[in-house]
Amino acid sequence: MLHEKLSSIYDNVLRRNPGEIEFHQAVREVLDSIGPVLGKHPEYAESKIIERICEPERQIIFRVPWTDDKGEVHINRGFRVEFNSALGPYKGGLRFHPSVYLGIVKFLGFEQIFKNSLTGLPIGGGKGGSDFDPKGRSDGEVMRFCQSFMTELYRHIGEYTDVPAGDTGVGGREIGYLFGQYKRITNRYESGVITGKGLAYGGAQVRTEATGYGCAFFVQEMLKARGTSFDGKRVVVSGSGNVAIYTIEKVEQLGGVVVACSDSSGYVLDEKGIDLALLKQIKQVERARLDVYAQRRPHATFVPGRTVWEVPGQVAMPSATQNEITGQDAATMVANGLIAVGEGANMPTTPEGIKVFQEAGIAYGPGKAANAGGVATSALEMQQNASRDSWTFEFSEQRLQEIMRDIHDRCLATADEYGLPGNYVAGANIDGFRRVADAMLALGLI
Ligand code: NDP
Repeated sequence: MLHEKLSSIYDNVLRRNPGEIEFHQAVREVLDSIGPVLGKHPEYAESKIIERICEPERQIIFRVPWTDDKGEVHINRGFRVEFNSALGPYKGGLRFHPSVYLGIVKFLGFEQIFKNSLTGLPIGGGKGGSDFDPKGRSDGEVMRFCQSFMTELYRHIGEYTDVPAGDTGVGGREIGYLFGQYKRITNRYESGVITGKGLAYGGAQVRTEATGYGCAFFVQEMLKARGTSFDGKRVVVSGSGNVAIYTIEKVEQLGGVVVACSDSSGYVLDEKGIDLALLKQIKQVERARLDVYAQRRPHATFVPGRTVWEVPGQVAMPSATQNEITGQDAATMVANGLIAVGEGANMPTTPEGIKVFQEAGIAYGPGKAANAGGVATSALEMQQNASRDSWTFEFSEQRLQEIMRDIHDRCLATADEYGLPGNYVAGANIDGFRRVADAMLALGLI
């Protein structure tokens, strides 16, 4: 049940944003947590902080025309939602996937506000993307799309305004094309305008690995808080993109055994532990489908068209997409001996699934906390760009680990403060919200 004041705010969000179901879900999850905060801080309600947080500061929608290799013209839709800049310039990735529409961009942008706040770094929240599908497209096609996308986006972004990065479908290749076009149009080598850049042109060590590594560090802390570790644990990961690959890498370094991962065609089960070099070759170099993994590693099996969550594991690290763990999946996972979940993806568990995990006493680390390492390291990239400096891999990874430990500890301490011990969802939402709310109060009615 929502706090009475929040209930009418939520009804308003539903009315003003029709059909945007993922956005509704993300707002509801935060509102469910912050009722007790309003009791302690009536000033937030008086200044309509929550109503203001639910309304993006600016939403940009634009046409993206481009030509394929045969000369045929295509039209996609581009988005940038600049949600909240109380803590710093808007910061958040770009997603290229056919499912992208305003409701997805707004859910991601809304989550990003609290995630960025949790990092403790000076970054606001935003998100963007397009319904363009890079799958099966040549490098030339991807480049022309990125150039067209940036030809509109460039006028809205900047080092002190809005700083995009990657997300699903936007990796190092796309960031390079986007930055190249920004530089060409503006005639400015403004490194801090985009993060996730290659190391050759202003990128930062560990940014590529940061979301996956950070998520593994977060789970390590959750396990430590329960007196255990990754050592010898059976781990199941979904996805096989950027977040999944570096989650697997760090989990293996920390002693866990990742037995399964997936893509949208199915999953592979490899009881000897996923061969990361082979997975990287298939996904990052050949950009092929996952069944190729089982063709090259005969003892592994590829299971088409099924969810990876049917594979028993003690730790689950969803790293593919939103709402990929249903209530039913969660019940199966708990019955199969699950003890911890660390969300590398954004909102991968449905509300029913979260309820199952929480009622079963699973250590459940929500995406806003567990995957904040990506954006935190983006903020470190901005810091290095601003000072024309570049840090070593070891130092950058150490900073990432400290940040993840700090986020973990603050989530737990805040949950304790509000009488909800071990509830990382409440801890993350309340702690993330308070910092933004205080900044908004201080800045006046803007
Ligand atoms: P990638 O595009 O690199 O990889 C996405 C992976 O998930 C692919 O294996 C893809 O399979 C799979 N996938 C995507 N959609 C679906 C679907 N509908 N069903 C099944 N599998 C699917 O993206 P990232 O690794 O960057 O992002 C993954 C998640 O992590 C997203 O939720 C993103 O928002 C989140 N995230 C990413 C951050 C980053 O730094 N990149 C930071 C924080 C969160 P296929 O290739 O078959 O589509």
